[in-house]
Amino acid sequence: MTQDNYEPIKAQIIEMCRRLEKMGYFIGTWGNISVRVPKGFIVTPSRVPYDVIETDDFVVVSSEGKVIAGHRLPSSETEIHRAVLNKKNNLGAIIHSHSPYATAVSCLHRRIPPFVEDMAQIIGGQVDCTRYVPAGQHKKIADEVAQTIGEANAVLLANHGVLCGGRDLEEAFTASQILEKAALMMLAAGTLGPVISIPEEFVRSERDRFLHKYGTVRDAP
Ligand code: 13P
Ligand code: ZN
Repeated sequence: MTQDNYEPIKAQIIEMCRRLEKMGYFIGTWGNISVRVPKGFIVTPSRVPYDVIETDDFVVVSSEGKVIAGHRLPSSETEIHRAVLNKKNNLGAIIHSHSPYATAVSCLHRRIPPFVEDMAQIIGGQVDCTRYVPAGQHKKIADEVAQTIGEANAVLLANHGVLCGGRDLEEAFTASQILEKAALMMLAAGTLGPVISIPEEFVRSERDRFLHKYGTVRDAP
């Protein structure tokens, strides 16, 4: 293992994996995380259970896809993380989970419109759904995800799961919770009819408010 100073980030990722497993977003080794670092990104290893994972198990991958540190195999979904981190410069961390309600919507091949304020603020827009690609077709599924993800910091992977990003790991976690809640609400409200999206101009203004004003005097009532 090469020396690096990523121990605190790796410890934070381990804590996050365990939190997500307790919440039912990760099941067994299904679900993975990446965090951007100057040389590329740190990613969880493939098929290492999160109750026994250690910081030494992580893999560092360059933005070109080359393993630059670590003795384990990187997550089998590393190409998806790499494609999204390369496409979206605003993201510093990505959580790929199989959270049940968002995955349920992915099985309908439906998008989740920005119909609640927290979605507009944190996720930034409509969450689209890919076409189905088997998870083992690593490059193809990564291309499909990169083509599908739009302005939003999240995407649904058809018949598979969800990917949510944030500027850091805590924000990616918040985005994952907000998307899971939105999926649950869409399925619940859907018994009465389709949810009504927030108008586009307000999706943008709420996103801008969250990024630049929320919690500051500029947003004082
Ligand atoms: P890895 O253990 O290779 O990260 O795969 C988990 C997963 O989410 C498969 O869909
Ligand atoms: Zn997966």
